[in-house]
Amino acid sequence: MARPKNTSTASTEVAQEALSYCTSCKMDLNHVIVAMKGDRIAKVQCLTCKKEHVYRAPKGVTTPPVKKSKKKEAESPATSVEAEWQKLMTAHKDTPIKAYSMKGQFGLGDRLKHPTFGEGIVGKLIYPNKLEVIFQTDIKVLIHGGTA
Ligand SMILES: [Zn+2]
Repeated sequence: MARPKNTSTASTEVAQEALSYCTSCKMDLNHVIVAMKGDRIAKVQCLTCKKEHVYRAPKGVTTPPVKKSKKKEAESPATSVEAEWQKLMTAHKDTPIKAYSMKGQFGLGDRLKHPTFGEGIVGKLIYPNKLEVIFQTDIKVLIHGGTA
């Protein structure tokens, strides 16, 4: 233990391995130091491609540009209700429109016009006197066949 001023223990030397940016591999790789210039690495040999080149400081964690492909899921053309309504309206386009009235009698697939909700198609018959009508923006349960 008689080595005064031993400053070389942590320093880099020729033949040591050092991380360097390889100009051929284009990434940080382990290299063997080939030549030193003072206390700086001058030349290195890539352990991967075996090429000697000027030492280049490792670029660090090179994160490749992550292209966040925001692939929007096939956008639903409209709300499901509206899509359904559109489909029904097309399917029943020849059905005459009946003005909705609680006193009226409606059947499945009937087209009706409601003063508030607009045109709709009877999609379901509930109870003896209720209808599920698909309107453009909503599905409503209406009463029909009422005796007043
Ligand atoms: Zn290389």
